[in-house]
Amino acid sequence: MTRVLLLLPTTTYRAPDFLEAARRLDVDVTVASEESNALEGMQPASLLTIDFRDPEACARRVVEFARTHPIDAVVGVDDDSVVAAATISRALGLPANPPEAVAAARHKGMLRRRLDAAGVPNPRSRLFLLEDGPNGAARTVTYPCVLKPTFLAASRGVIRADDPDSFRAAWRRIEAIVRQPDVSAKGGAAAKEILVEEYVSGAEVAVEGLLRAGELEVLAVFDKPDPLEGPFFEETIYVTPSRLPEATLAAVARSTEQASQALGLVEGPIHAELRINSAGPSVIEVAARSIGGLCSRTLSFGAGISLEELILRHALRREEGRTPRDPRAAGVMMIPIRRRGRLGKVSGLEQARAVPDVEEVVVSAHAGQLLVPLPEGSRYLGFIFSRAATVDRAEAALREAHAALTFQIGD
Ligand code: ADP
Repeated sequence: MTRVLLLLPTTTYRAPDFLEAARRLDVDVTVASEESNALEGMQPASLLTIDFRDPEACARRVVEFARTHPIDAVVGVDDDSVVAAATISRALGLPANPPEAVAAARHKGMLRRRLDAAGVPNPRSRLFLLEDGPNGAARTVTYPCVLKPTFLAASRGVIRADDPDSFRAAWRRIEAIVRQPDVSAKGGAAAKEILVEEYVSGAEVAVEGLLRAGELEVLAVFDKPDPLEGPFFEETIYVTPSRLPEATLAAVARSTEQASQALGLVEGPIHAELRINSAGPSVIEVAARSIGGLCSRTLSFGAGISLEELILRHALRREEGRTPRDPRAAGVMMIPIRRRGRLGKVSGLEQARAVPDVEEVVVSAHAGQLLVPLPEGSRYLGFIFSRAATVDRAEAALREAHAALTFQIGD
C-alpha cells in the first residue's frame, strides 16, 4: 500500500482538500502536525507530532517512523511546513526540492538576493536590522517603498510608505508584530530583520504552477482586479483565466520559471506573485507551495481532478500525462476583514449562495473569533467561489454575493 505523509500545520486551511485528494487516490495517509493530538497513541500509523521549526529533528523522527511504515511521498501543504517537507524527503531519498532552495524562497531577503544574482527582474531592496531603528533607513531609502518582515505570509506586516514619517510609523508597526512572542519564536533570527523594497506599480497576477525536473508547467494565472496600492495589501478577488494578452502571459511564465530556477526549485507546486508594468514583469514572490486559504477550489483539471490531487499524483510519481484545466472562468474572493472585533451574526448567506454563478460561500471564521485586519492579521473571514462562462461574470458574481453578506463584528 502506498503511503503519503502530509505535513499539516494546526492553523492550515489546506487540510480538508489534501485529505480528500488522498482519499480519492486511495492511498494511506499519515498526518504530521506540530501539536500533540489526543488520538496519537491510538492511531500510531496515521498521526505524528513534529516541530516544523526544526526540520532536521523532523527528518530524524520520520526516518524512524518510516522503518515500520514506509513513506512514498511527503507534502508540506503551506509555508510553515515546506522546509520540513523538503528536509524529510531528502532524508528518505525521495525526489523533491533541495531544502536550502525552499528555505531561500521562505526568506524574502534571500529571495531578493537570489533573483538579483540571476538577473531576474524584481524590486530593488535593502535589508535592515530592527535594532538600528528607522531614522537612518528613512533618510536613505527612496520613496514610495514597501516595508515587510522577511518571514511572514498573507501580506502580514507588508506596508507601503510614501515619506519618512510614514516609513517610521510602518517600521514601528512591523516591529510590534514581529515582537509578539509566537511570531518572534517562529521567525528566529529573521524576526530581527526588516526588508525595504522599491514600490513596484502595475497590475498584479498570481501564478499557480508545477515544477518537474526544473521545468515549469503554468497551471493557472489569476488576475487581481481590485487595486493593491497600499498602504496595506489585502488580497480580495482572484479571477482566472487572466485577461492579460498572450505575450504578457508568456513573459509572466518565463519570469516565474527563471525565478524558480534562480532559487534552485525543481519539483512540485509553486505559487508566485508578479507585477507587470511598462518594464515587463517583476517578481514579488515565489513560494514552494500551492495557493493558500481555500482558493485552490477555483481550479479543476481533467475530469474533476483537484489541484491537491494533481500535487499528490506528482509527488507519488503517478501522473498520467498532463491534465488540462477546466476552461470555464472561475473566481474566489477572500472576504476582507474591515475592522477588529469578535465575529457575531452572519446574515445574507442564503442570498449570497443564490447569486447566479456562485458555487460556494464558506465562512471560515467561527462565531466569537477575534477578527484582526491587516497588517497585523493573518486569517480570513471566509471565501466566496464562482464559476461562469466569462471572467467578467465570475468577478461580478463575487461582488454581488459579497454585497449580500453582513458580518456583525462586536467589540
Ligand atoms: P506575503 O508573502 O506576506 O504575501 P509579499 O511580499 O508577497 O508578502 O507581499 C504581499 C503583497 O504586497 C503583494 O502581493 C503585493 O500586492 C504587495 N507588495 C509587496 N511587495 C511589493 C513591492 N515591492 N511593490 C509593490 N507591491 C508590493
